[in-house]
Amino acid sequence: APIRAHDGQVLGAVVTFTDITAMHELQERQEDLLRAVSHDLRSPLTTVLGQAQLLARRLARGDLTGGRESAEAIATTARRMNTMIQDLVDAARSESGRLALHRQPVDMRAFLSDLKQRLATSMETERIRLQAPEGLPPVLADPDRLERIVVNLLSNALKYSTPGSEVTVSLRRQNGELITSVADRGRGIAPDELPRLFHRYYRTAAGREQREGVGLGLYITRTLVEAHGGHIWVDSTLGVGSVFSFSLPLAQ
Ligand code: ADP
Repeated sequence: APIRAHDGQVLGAVVTFTDITAMHELQERQEDLLRAVSHDLRSPLTTVLGQAQLLARRLARGDLTGGRESAEAIATTARRMNTMIQDLVDAARSESGRLALHRQPVDMRAFLSDLKQRLATSMETERIRLQAPEGLPPVLADPDRLERIVVNLLSNALKYSTPGSEVTVSLRRQNGELITSVADRGRGIAPDELPRLFHRYYRTAAGREQREGVGLGLYITRTLVEAHGGHIWVDSTLGVGSVFSFSLPLAQ
């Protein structure tokens, strides 16, 4: 608005600015969520629908061949969708500071070996080697969220490495924290891609070649680790492999 003298001459102006960064960020986040829901959930849904229709057609003919495979594909895909939805909900909750953790003392060594057994039907667990000294103190963690952290890192390590190569999970104590590391002998990650690795929807050039995945896993993993008061980082060498590590506070 102009500031005028008595004779109408313009002496100056009043300009107001409103910082809409927060609103803009919120809008972007909503768009991200919409994109995730519409695109990333739709493709597994297509699998579920296709398999269900196939199954229905076969059953109508009294043909039971391939029935078990279709039912299994539906169950696996539905489980994957469930994890994705849970991840999206957790990400949204933690961004708005409403992620409630149910923390309890967890013996990581026992937790990991139990998890490895439970994952045997859905993952190539025979490639996973646990390396943990006995007598480590328990950490303070929400077991469900801890499982998602470890599963995300393990599935990436298995997915982005040579088929059949070993993935090592190791534990060590350091300054009042427990460090868990997941090491693969994969293709590694280029240094210029490392800073963005834990960002939402970021996928490396090599990662984008893989059909499966949307680039949300490491973002959620970081969010969950930080909600526990820990840190997550990666050391990687191209052609050698990557080591993803996270710290968790010890239960006092
Ligand atoms: P997604 O696996 O769905 O693409 P993530 O957030 O889990 O998403 O990972 C982001 C990207 O980081 C992946 O696309 C991949 O390019 C890269 N990445 C993650 N883990 C590894 C790994 N162990 N080795 C090499 N690249 C990896």
